[in-house]
Amino acid sequence: KKMRKKIVAGNWKMNMNLQDGVALAKEINETLKADKPNCGVIICTPFIHLASVAQVLDQNVVALGAENCADKEKGAYTGEVSAEMVKSTGAQYVILGHSERRQYYHETAEILKDKVQLALKNGLKVIFCCGETLEEREANKQNEVVKAELDGSVFNLSAEEWKNIVLAYEPIWAIGTGKTATADQAEEMLAYIRSIVADKYGKEAADDTTILYGGSCKPGNAPELFAKPDIDGGLIGGASLKAADFKGIIDAWK
Ligand code: PEP
Repeated sequence: KKMRKKIVAGNWKMNMNLQDGVALAKEINETLKADKPNCGVIICTPFIHLASVAQVLDQNVVALGAENCADKEKGAYTGEVSAEMVKSTGAQYVILGHSERRQYYHETAEILKDKVQLALKNGLKVIFCCGETLEEREANKQNEVVKAELDGSVFNLSAEEWKNIVLAYEPIWAIGTGKTATADQAEEMLAYIRSIVADKYGKEAADDTTILYGGSCKPGNAPELFAKPDIDGGLIGGASLKAADFKGIIDAWK
């Protein structure tokens, strides 16, 4: 029923050393080569894992992404990693706009706009995250918050650039809290997001845009979420750290 690309993407965050990360990537790769997924699968890893994980993945089955990139092209920015550097590892995607980056590292809409531009310019596809806090939802401001995040960082893109954007709606109150948005709440927001993408880029582009849900997604709740008409998959934090859990979510597309 949904013709657009379906995706399950993992976001490992700051959890594993190099050896453990490479071992997990190998396990996911072997598991999915033995039992082919019905969706696109991406694992997004810390910078230090990228080059080594790229060597153990068959990216026709499991694509590789980073969790961030710099808002500057190159030069004297100690400790930063540019989009071009990410791309050179073999990675194809980058997560930008994650709420943890916005909250703890003060990434503003303006900074994210620069990061998105640099990622696209260097041939990376962007998984762009948006989502409201609990306080904003309780004030019924979730739609305006999400719209402002998209307006501020990605709705400036050309129609051609837009083809390289995947959106992820992640209500902050559902991330790592064990509290999932209900499938109806997630669907309501994703349908709204698709409608504002249609306002900006037209209905056809909106119908082709992959929009993910993220926030305490697990094997147990993925089937109900993915059954909704506008939910094209998930961005997975905690449950992407165990091959069996991650596979369980991927299998929700079967
Ligand atoms: C995330 O941070 O992208 C996320 C969805 O985390 P979790 O699945 O752990 O809630």
